[in-house]
Amino acid sequence: MYELGRAGFQGYLVGGGVRDLLAGVQPKDFDVATDAEPEQVAEVFRRCRLIGRRFRLAHVRMGPEIIEVATFRAKPGELGDDDAGDDDPLHLTDDGGRILRDNVYGSLEDDAFRRDFTINALYYRVTDFSVVDYVGGMDDMHAKRVRLIGDPVTRYREDPVRMLRAVRIANKLGFSIDETAAAPLADMADLLADVPAARLFDEVLKLFLSAQAEQNYADLSAHGLFAAMFPMTADALAAHPETETVIHGALAGTALRVREDRPVTPAFLYAALLWPVVYQTITPRLADGESVAQALAATGGDIVSDQVELVAIPRRFSTPMREIWQLQPRFERRRGKRPLRLLEHPRFRAAYDFLLLRVAAGEAEQELADWWTEFQEANPVERKATADSAPSGRRRRGRRGGGRRNKRSD
Ligand code: ATP
Ligand code: MG
Repeated sequence: MYELGRAGFQGYLVGGGVRDLLAGVQPKDFDVATDAEPEQVAEVFRRCRLIGRRFRLAHVRMGPEIIEVATFRAKPGELGDDDAGDDDPLHLTDDGGRILRDNVYGSLEDDAFRRDFTINALYYRVTDFSVVDYVGGMDDMHAKRVRLIGDPVTRYREDPVRMLRAVRIANKLGFSIDETAAAPLADMADLLADVPAARLFDEVLKLFLSAQAEQNYADLSAHGLFAAMFPMTADALAAHPETETVIHGALAGTALRVREDRPVTPAFLYAALLWPVVYQTITPRLADGESVAQALAATGGDIVSDQVELVAIPRRFSTPMREIWQLQPRFERRRGKRPLRLLEHPRFRAAYDFLLLRVAAGEAEQELADWWTEFQEANPVERKATADSAPSGRRRRGRRGGGRRNKRSD
């Protein structure tokens, strides 16, 4: 910001950086807004890269950080009459009012009004250490309130992802969603179906690979936003409410790991988010005598390909996700060399963690989890003895109805 000033430009800290600092939360990254055009920004900073085709942005490297420097932009309809005709090539919306293109430079004030929430439109100025506020964002900071700039229905229509951002930002800061912003959510949730699947993938990770994962899930569910993104899961949960324990467990574990700065993986998260669907799909097949492995092999791919139409799951995550599912029946086979082989599988640890969630959901016996916990902690000699004396876990085939069915997951 100082360097931009020395070069004769304005430079403000804006967005999440200002918002989080004011709320006493550690910002994730810093965004700068400026009246300099991207090419001019590139002349000011040596370590600068211009990115983006739709939005031209400058990424300026400062030590280990990358600062995103964006030129003030105007919002559709905020331009003079001369510029804002129906056939304006730079501002394009679809029939539903969704913004398809908005790449027109504007003033600082224009830039404030095209942002989503008032608390995201505060500009911190280093020349006098003041905060510039055109939209009442400071009042909302004090009231701990997430409020849209302008008419909520219009703003959600322009970009339905704002509905998800409202939930995420409110929970990140411990703020509430203003009534005017919360009321339309349930009715508008279905608009998420029009958002590109790759963008929803990014948002889902921000929502659930987060310290507020559980609260985000609860609020998304309450507002119908979860069902809009994961309709198969929502349907399966209605039929098998007990499988929600797996989702809750995964989110609680993720939140804890994030707080402890330990790594988290989208594969595990998605394995849990789709597990109710898997469970519902394979259950009738097991009753027909198929093994879990057969039923999973037959149905896992379809579940994934249906889901990725709405929320993308890149293959580098869907492959390990399916492995986590496919390893589940192998925990039942504890005799001989099998458990050692499973232990050496690269996905063993994730699959074992997943087994613990299924035990908590009542799908597998606690005894099975305890056995594997002990087996992992044992030394090689003890492991052999444990495996030699293990229950066979072999499933008697062809038995239908009647009799005692060991484990629902068997
Ligand atoms: P965080 O970085 O914690 O995820 P953020 O608010 O900084 O939160 P970014 O995606 O980094 O989120 O966006 C930076 C700023 O850009 C926002 O604060 C907001 O002013 C603006 N912005 C982001 N997404 C939108 C959107 N969908 N509609 C309007 N403005 C947006
Ligand atoms: Mg940010």
